Amino acid sequence: MPLYEYQCTECNEKFEKLVRSSFAEAEVSCPNCGSSLVKRLVSLFGALGFSGAGASSGCAPTGGG
Ligand SMILES: [Zn+2]
Repeated sequence: MPLYEYQCTECNEKFEKLVRSSFAEAEVSCPNCGSSLVKRLVSLFGALGFSGAGASSGCAPTGGG
């Protein structure tokens, strides 16, 4: 069962909801204010942090005069 994240456009409340089918999205309402004006955010499984390589070796001393 896919889990989608929604955000209320009335109170900007973010909440997750299990949507069985596409038509079920119409029944999604904000648990905070009860408004049906919600928008679906990016899937939680979509954005996964990738491992970045951060290795800086030494730092050459600069002589200024
Ligand atoms: Zn709301």
